[in-house]
Amino acid sequence: MSTETEKKIFTAIESGDDALLRAALDDHPNVNIIDENLMTPLQHAAYKGNKDMVQILLDYGADPNLCKHQHNYTALHFAGLSGNFEVCLALLVAGARPDVTNAVNRTASQMAAFVGHHKCVAIINNYVQKSNVDYYTVAHGLHTKPYLPPYLAESFHKLIIQVNMHPVKVALNMHSFIGIFEHLSEVKTVLELMSEKEMKNEGSNEVMAFKFFYLSYVAGELVNIQAKQNAKKQEDKKNETLQVFCKNILKPGKDGSLQFMDAFLRECVKKFPFRECTLLRQIVSTLTGKDPPTALSIVTFAINGQRGFVDDAVDCYTCGEEKPTKKCSKCKVAQYCDKNCQKLHWHWHKKVCASLVQDSSSSKDKKEVAVDSSELSSEIQNLLISN
Ligand SMILES: [Zn+2]
Ligand SMILES: [Zn+2]
Repeated sequence: MSTETEKKIFTAIESGDDALLRAALDDHPNVNIIDENLMTPLQHAAYKGNKDMVQILLDYGADPNLCKHQHNYTALHFAGLSGNFEVCLALLVAGARPDVTNAVNRTASQMAAFVGHHKCVAIINNYVQKSNVDYYTVAHGLHTKPYLPPYLAESFHKLIIQVNMHPVKVALNMHSFIGIFEHLSEVKTVLELMSEKEMKNEGSNEVMAFKFFYLSYVAGELVNIQAKQNAKKQEDKKNETLQVFCKNILKPGKDGSLQFMDAFLRECVKKFPFRECTLLRQIVSTLTGKDPPTALSIVTFAINGQRGFVDDAVDCYTCGEEKPTKKCSKCKVAQYCDKNCQKLHWHWHKKVCASLVQDSSSSKDKKEVAVDSSELSSEIQNLLISN
């Protein structure tokens, strides 16, 4: 039987009201409860595919494996059905077990596959348990030092479970996740070792082998760039490295397409050492086929199983993140996650921004909200607005 305060939690989830949910949870901190359908708040939020609510509930101590549901659908089963891969990821990070089966003997990834949510399938099947990372933070055998300093375990794990494979996003993650940039060479080595392990172990996982190799390739490129930077302060060197990398990757070709990013990704495919694997052959045949899609979409497809949504939604011009919330206030065409992404693209965008203004003059979008741009260089002051 649920009390009034418990009911409020379920009502808040039903209405999708974050503030209401937080208030209800403050009144009733035990979040591991069930309603008359034998479902927990977390299961409801997961079924709705509501990432923010799922995170709030997890932060309040929701047990991702608590399941009283009559057909034994776990929160992860519901997440897989919802189609929101970020909800799947949040639950996995919180310790949701992917091997639990429901009453018809199906795992969460099998249910997701059944309803055609391939990205959820990929996220669940390719999830790397943190214990696999911890192995590299402990010294083994004759080694006196581990491959990675132990404090890196968390950020390294976070790095390898990300799903946005845009090289700029990978570099941004390496730049922002604690300690990664400071140990890029070690990170690169461990990623190579993990790639090799995936190929050589029984039950080899070519997808993961390719993903780890790809991440190591980006790390290697950053190592090369970093070696050429002259800045004295470590922090400046780190920022310069990221800027140079982004400038190289985002440089537009004569036709305006991202052909340098394409070349970078093709080179990575070329360097993948396991030439005989099926996945590589598929990638190469698509890359060399007639009218190939972008190398980024091929690489993303190879790693994630699907290229997100096939509607005409625009991704961040800098890092490829879905549903960017800001746009350039001048042309109102270029879209970004935030000021940082805009800044990293400005070197190239400033050359075309004005010409995009004319193209978009007929745009009916009037929702312009200026944001505080005090952190931007004077050149791009007031050039970012919310969508
Ligand atoms: Zn972005
Ligand atoms: Zn612009």
